[in-house]
Amino acid sequence: MTRLRPTDPSQLSINTATLWESGLREVAEGLCRHGIRGIAPWRDRVAQVGIAQARRILDDCGLSVTGLCRGGMFPAAGAGERQLAIDDSLRAIDEAAALGAKCLVMVCGGLPEGSRDLPAARQMVRDGLGATLGHARSCRVPIAIEPLHPMTTAERSCINTLCQALDLCDELDPDAAGAIGVAIDAYHVWWDPDLQTQVERAGKLRLLAFHICDWLRPTTDLALDRGMMGDGVIDLPRLRSCMEAAGYDGMHEVEIFSKHNWWKRPVDEVLAVCKSRHREVC
Ligand code: ZN
Repeated sequence: MTRLRPTDPSQLSINTATLWESGLREVAEGLCRHGIRGIAPWRDRVAQVGIAQARRILDDCGLSVTGLCRGGMFPAAGAGERQLAIDDSLRAIDEAAALGAKCLVMVCGGLPEGSRDLPAARQMVRDGLGATLGHARSCRVPIAIEPLHPMTTAERSCINTLCQALDLCDELDPDAAGAIGVAIDAYHVWWDPDLQTQVERAGKLRLLAFHICDWLRPTTDLALDRGMMGDGVIDLPRLRSCMEAAGYDGMHEVEIFSKHNWWKRPVDEVLAVCKSRHREVC
């Protein structure tokens, strides 16, 4: 495994998906107790308390919001449904702005029900992103396209490689005005032979978020069996060094969907392990 300079604990952020059973306040207070400075909430956790209260909770705990999850899910069979997804993403941009989030993460969406037309689905993603970009720009909330592992193509995202995501950025934001970029989730992109080249291509402007966890061997559930950093096969220091060489200086957001392991453990245990693994193996 690659080693490089130690991680800075102040760069640690926790995605609320890592503490699935907890509400926003519980997560925020846990982060406070452990001296963790960043959080990335999912919108349902924000909605449970309301946006104004969410902002107060995060401010009281002095947390930076490394991203709001999520907008997107653009492809759909009918124009009406596609518009609903766009409207939802516009609301998500408003919420991200109200929370002072560094970006809105986009999970772009897979194939519409009953469809086998992948190029059309990808076109719908392009159109959906295009329809939200002006609002993102005026709210000063950059959109972060998160390419998802190819195993998710049917149901969650037909944008599967960093290259695809960056091609979309270049098409929609040719002047690189900073309205759109990418979220690099180690779990989704670690296998990509083109990863380093594409991270370099992205550069500081387009690298908006860095999500970390590990790929377990074997993996028992392709969505809900993510590993804690250090428990799997991803060379996280190599990826971090590549991100840093490309200019990324933002936070490292732990995002672990783990139905049968980490979600069952107490908040304080999960956060203590996140902190020590971030220090030791990332
Ligand atoms: Zn992610």
